[in-house]
Amino acid sequence: MRLETRAVHIGADADPESGALSPPLQLATTFLHAPDGSQDHGYLYQRYDNPTQARLEAAASALDGAERSLLLSTGMAAAAALLQALPAGGQVVFQRDLYHGIRVLAEDWLPRWGLTAVFVDAGDPAALRAAMSASTAAVWIETPSNPLLQVVDIGVCAEIAHASKALLVVDSTFATPVLQQPIALGADVVLHSATKYMGGHSDVMGGLLCFARETALSAQVFEIRKLLGASASPFNAWLILRGLRSLPARMAMHCANAERLAAALDAHPAVSVVHYPGLRSHAGYALAQRQMSRPGGMLSFELGAGREAALAVCAKTRLFQCATSLGGCESLIEHRASVEEPKPVSPPGLLRVSVGLEHADDLIEDLRQALEP
Ligand code: PLP
Repeated sequence: MRLETRAVHIGADADPESGALSPPLQLATTFLHAPDGSQDHGYLYQRYDNPTQARLEAAASALDGAERSLLLSTGMAAAAALLQALPAGGQVVFQRDLYHGIRVLAEDWLPRWGLTAVFVDAGDPAALRAAMSASTAAVWIETPSNPLLQVVDIGVCAEIAHASKALLVVDSTFATPVLQQPIALGADVVLHSATKYMGGHSDVMGGLLCFARETALSAQVFEIRKLLGASASPFNAWLILRGLRSLPARMAMHCANAERLAAALDAHPAVSVVHYPGLRSHAGYALAQRQMSRPGGMLSFELGAGREAALAVCAKTRLFQCATSLGGCESLIEHRASVEEPKPVSPPGLLRVSVGLEHADDLIEDLRQALEP
């Protein structure tokens, strides 16, 4: 079955009791068990596991080619649970350009868990090889990355990680399973902030970890979710499951709009550079052609005139709303350095754009008028 068909049908089979075609939402916190504690129905307590979440996890596994998937309350909770499951004393090699929250987690929190973080340009295989050591437990890449849209070769990183007996973790939030299949390329774990495209409507948070194989690591993350309690609400699982049904259709339009917008920005004299893997001028263009089915709905661009000019554009847009996050129906624009306080790393003139599902001509017109001096 092709991905579009799987997205519509998996986890969405009719409720056997009522015949309802929308998956049942089970909000129970507790489930009947036998006097000796054995779980007649397969569930004990909502924080451990629950039927609505199990449907979503099965659907996520089917879309990503995973043996086991686990939902946590947010993308950050999923990242933290995975990192906490790694053996203390280990090192994690992170790609340098990655989501700000994960970089702060790596820098400030890993040491508390007995882990060390190092940062490399994962697009440079020699640099990645040089960063590996006997204690490297995982290589963590994000492709395309947030906010510079760098594209990293998943297969090459998998080879390098595996040669040192380390895991390859791929944050595939920008791509979703529709545009990229990291497990097929060698990844051991795929992270999705389901808050973004999977939910798709800016109204739900969740984080999915899709494990290529069901191993001690996935069991450990299950225990962390159970004991540290970063479980998602079943309602959130239900909303994300609903989002998956339309994910391929939405991704097609996000991509079509972003491709047109990137080309228009690229031709604009006030724009010094557009970061979008669908542009031939992008360093990751050829790799994205091989590794992704389309370049995605996220892009960033820089204004030669710097920070003040970038802030002025944000203030002038009418359709693009100034807000963080991404992957919803509505287009968003954000001056990244401003929201990365207190440790901004993004270039001062950089604006990140989540290209929504409006008409591409309206989006292009809006940015053109906002870019006028
Ligand atoms: N990974 C990426 C690439 C992100 O952009 C984000 C959030 O923006 C996260 C992970 C964290 O996800 P959440 O906000 O659901 O915790």
